[in-house]
Order: sequence, then structure tokens, then C-alpha cells
Amino acid sequence: MLRLFLSSSPILFAVFPALISLNAETQPPTLRRLAPGVYASLGDIGRGSEGRPNAGFVVTSSGVVVIDALASPRQAEELLQSIRSVTRQPVKWVILTHHHPDHHFGTAVFRRLGAKVIAHPDRRVLASEGGEDALIADWVRVVGLDAMRGFEFADTPDRPVTATDTLCLGGKTLVIRHPGAAHSPGDLMVWLPRERILFAGDLLVEDGVTMVVDGNSDRLLHALAAIDSLAPAAVVPGHGAIPGRPELLVARTRDYITALRSAMRSAIERGAPMGRAMAALPPADETRPVSLNSRRRRNAVRVYLEEERAYMGLDSTR
Ligand SMILES: [Zn+2]
Repeated sequence: MLRLFLSSSPILFAVFPALISLNAETQPPTLRRLAPGVYASLGDIGRGSEGRPNAGFVVTSSGVVVIDALASPRQAEELLQSIRSVTRQPVKWVILTHHHPDHHFGTAVFRRLGAKVIAHPDRRVLASEGGEDALIADWVRVVGLDAMRGFEFADTPDRPVTATDTLCLGGKTLVIRHPGAAHSPGDLMVWLPRERILFAGDLLVEDGVTMVVDGNSDRLLHALAAIDSLAPAAVVPGHGAIPGRPELLVARTRDYITALRSAMRSAIERGAPMGRAMAALPPADETRPVSLNSRRRRNAVRVYLEEERAYMGLDSTR
């Protein structure tokens, strides 16, 4: 086991670097009731994907549906306390919006209580490229050993969703949909049609930028269009505050991705190598492992490569 605590994967910290500060010191999540029986558990606001994510749960007369299990067993226990503050109903299902560790490393807590997991079966993420032991070891450094006590992987779905699935429980309806590999291969979004509430996972990040390094910018644009077509009354992003006007957050995300794609496309058409294209972007903040600027730079690298493939005719989807 010692090896587990000494190894580290540069990829993990490239993806979730400043989660290093997402440690035992973080405050318990804030609960917000969005509609009868529908709650958002708000994580850290103002730190983008460097902070504790958002999650949510839906209380029905036949049990509770949790949406995302947060970054550690401890965080999941805190979420469970929030659930217990409003209901004694058992947790029947956990829906995972994707397989990034900050959204699912608490899942085992709910599974031990008898909950079943709904997720996309594609669990691949860049952060796990070094293997699961390395991923756990790195995550211990992120959230602290104490917060990880009782951890085991629990994100393999009992009920896999690769297109659309509808969960009806105790009078509530949740439509679970895979929008394509937009933020990550295993993205799901959760839509409550009656309440017109969408849990978007990291397709939307209110206090940062949506990352596409595990996904694809073209798929993200399609996912944003799908969100628009739902015309949600409220959206819970993966990180940050619940926006007052969901359509503005969608539009801002689309504008960012569209501008990035056209900038990278024109760099390629000018014959500019990636390094020169990147020089136009603000530099990364060296005082933080990965600042917002460096996230933008990582997205730019990804989008440059996407556009290069498309330019060379290697992208069969365009
Ligand atoms: Zn994510």
C-alpha cells in the first residue's frame, strides 16, 4: 500500500490540480430547494472545478435519487446528512453525471446503503490512464487520507445509460440522457420534465470554463443545443452557483467554445504551429497549479488538435 501513497500521476494533477485544496477543511455543502422534493447541494462557489462540486437529490414517496456522489466518502456522508435533514426515505439510486473522481468518489457510501448506480458505462478519463491505484493515491493527496476512508470504486453502473433512460420513482420522473462525449466519454445529464430542472454535470461550469480535454468541443456544442431545446427553468451546473438565467450560462459557454474553435481553426489555416497559436492566450498563473488561464490553455490545445484533424480531413464526423 505504501506505493499507493508515494506514486503520483502528472495527468491527474493536470486535470484536477488545485483540487489539492479541496481537503478536509472544506465546509459542508449548502442545501437549496429548487422545487418540492428537488434539492441542489452546492459545493464551493468561485473556484471552478478546483472546488467541491455541486450535487443534488430528489425526494420521492418511494425513496431518494441522488445526483452525483461528490469527491470522497466523507463528502458523501455530508451529503447524506443533508438528505437526512429533509427525509428519512432510503436512497434508492445514485445517478453519476460522469466519471471524474470529484463527482463519484463518494458513491460507495450510498451503495453500502443499498442504492443502485445509474451511469454511463464508459468510465475512461485521462486521470485514470496511470491505473486505478495511481488514481487513488493521487486523490488521497487531493482530499486527504481521512476523507477517503472507506473508499472503493463504485461507479460501474447497475443500470447503464448510453442514450436516454427514464426513471420513474414515487411520483417523480427523471430523464437521464447521454449528450455525447462532450466533457467526458461518460457524460449524462438529468432532466426533471415536470419541474423543468436540469442537472448538467460539468457540461456547464458557472465559475470557470467547461473543460473538453476528456471530451470534444463539437459534442459540447451539440450538448449545449440540447440544453437550450429543453428551455430549463433552472440548471444546476457541475461547479459554481445556480445561474439566475440558465440560457445565459449556456450562451456564454457556447460563445467561449465557438470563439476558441474559430481561433484555432484560423491558426491552422495560417499554418501557425500550436505553440504560436497558444502564444495568443493569456499565460497560466504560476502561483496556482492550474489557474483558469491554464484551463483555457488546456482546452485550446485540445481544440487545436481537433481542428487540425478536421482540417486534414481526418474527422469523419464533420
Ligand atoms: Zn468533470
